[in-house]
Amino acid sequence: MEVHITEDCIACEQCVEICPQVFQMGDELAEVILEEIPEEYAEAVEEAMDVCPTEAIVIE
Ligand code: SF4
Repeated sequence: MEVHITEDCIACEQCVEICPQVFQMGDELAEVILEEIPEEYAEAVEEAMDVCPTEAIVIE
């Protein structure tokens, strides 16, 4: 799966805390490090989606 972060991100850093293997903080918004998300991180990515206060994490 692929994950993207929209401009709704408010840089709260929660996704980075939950799954630093996939997310990192950029200059203003969070960024996705990996183009293709390995299955082993899928659960953590879904948790980050649930926690994200602005629903800025989108799975495609
Ligand atoms: S949890 Fe959502 S709002 Fe917070 S840094 Fe990550 S993408 Fe941005």
